Amino acid sequence: MDLTFSKEDEDFRSEFRSWLDQNLPAEMRTLDWWRPKSEDEQFQIRRDWEAKKAEAGFCGIQWPTEYGGRGGTPTMKAIYDEEMAKSNAPRTVNPLGLAFLAPTVMAIGTDEQKAAIIRPMLRTETIWCQGFSEPGAGSDLAALQMKAEPQGEEYVLNGQKIWTTNAMHGDKIFTLARTSAGAKRHEGISMLLVDMHQPGVEARPLKQITGESEFGEVFFTDATCPQTEVLGGEGNGWMTAMLLLSFERGSSAIGQYTEFKGQWNAVVDLAKKVDRGSGKAIEDPVLRQKLANSLIELECLKLHSWHVLTQTSQGRDLGYEASMTKIMWSETFRKVSDTYEAVLGSAFQVNETVGTTIEELTTLALWSRSCTIWGGSQQVQRSIVAERVLGLPR
Ligand SMILES: Cc1cc2nc3c(=O)[nH]c(=O)nc-3n(C[C@H](O)[C@H](O)[C@H](O)COP(=O)(O)OP(=O)(O)OC[C@H]3O[C@@H](n4cnc5c(N)ncnc54)[C@H](O)[C@@H]3O)c2cc1C
Repeated sequence: MDLTFSKEDEDFRSEFRSWLDQNLPAEMRTLDWWRPKSEDEQFQIRRDWEAKKAEAGFCGIQWPTEYGGRGGTPTMKAIYDEEMAKSNAPRTVNPLGLAFLAPTVMAIGTDEQKAAIIRPMLRTETIWCQGFSEPGAGSDLAALQMKAEPQGEEYVLNGQKIWTTNAMHGDKIFTLARTSAGAKRHEGISMLLVDMHQPGVEARPLKQITGESEFGEVFFTDATCPQTEVLGGEGNGWMTAMLLLSFERGSSAIGQYTEFKGQWNAVVDLAKKVDRGSGKAIEDPVLRQKLANSLIELECLKLHSWHVLTQTSQGRDLGYEASMTKIMWSETFRKVSDTYEAVLGSAFQVNETVGTTIEELTTLALWSRSCTIWGGSQQVQRSIVAERVLGLPR
């Protein structure tokens, strides 16, 4: 494992840091500035800011330049993630498109799809949603029921998707539907690229435990999609979906480590202030042990992230080992959040009394609950590691 950065990497860090210093106003880094704005306003501000960042060349860090990317290395991408987290920069408005759709299109899309999808996504001109989950199909994705019947030059879509991130702000959705009756559950499925701005597509918000509606439901009622808008070929949807989901592999979790370490520091500061009558919370030996445990988990996450980065920098595909990264970062996040809850007890849920730090930490603690579910639940990830990495029997 090599823990040093090359001069090129350090130059990139300074260049990006100074761009952030000049283009991310101090107030935008605080919750106070965002709080009075509606979800729509917040989304639009993030969208505009990300477009500006893309224009300055800080997008698609590891993507080839022919697609509008920066042509950088895995280490540069890790540095980018770290600096974004350190500066409390707004999260991307296109998480599913950037992580999943774009690399899939680069690998198997037609030339027309490459031209139509990748650059507009980088510039945030098109916001992409992922329409995989249905009320009866989550971990068991092959249970999906949505139908897309070929009619003339189009498909006519009927069905429902759920838990769709950015449902209320999406322009297009890459979705799985049954285009024919396959003999097996994984057959007859196609991945369609559907315009969400049409009468047959209705997005409805779902309120989350954080109070936000960052995801929603999407209903398709005789919605249409041209037959040219299939990614990976008709009937190959399952293979296309598996390829698409594999692109989460190789990301190193350095950005997450940086973010959670900041959260841990804030919890320690808070524990020094909270008075329990008999003394400050930080003096409680049980809490101190919890804090120490979560710090150890954090440091393990950092070392694991360096390991992943070293492997990917050397051109190694981590394959199913990537599930270990997902388990580690999502569970570390939960543990740091649990420590926060231990400082305040159940009062942590009533966040209006104590001010900004509390509100921020409460939102994080509530959000952390979802991270062991999406992108493959922790139980499903553990089965993957057991069977495919460790070779244990089913
Ligand atoms: C914040 C958030 C954002 C999301 N965004 C999107 C999105 O943009 N697009 C999209 O398509 N989906 C999205 N999802 C949905 C997500 O992919 C599913 O929630 C996930 O796949 C789990 O499916 P489920 O909710 O139906 O739970 P289920 O699959 O019903 O699982 C319920 C419980 O059973 C366990 N379980 C299920 N099967 C097994 C098994 N074989 N072995 C062991 N345990 C098992 C699970 O681990 C879980 O604890 C999002 C979810 C969240 C929370």
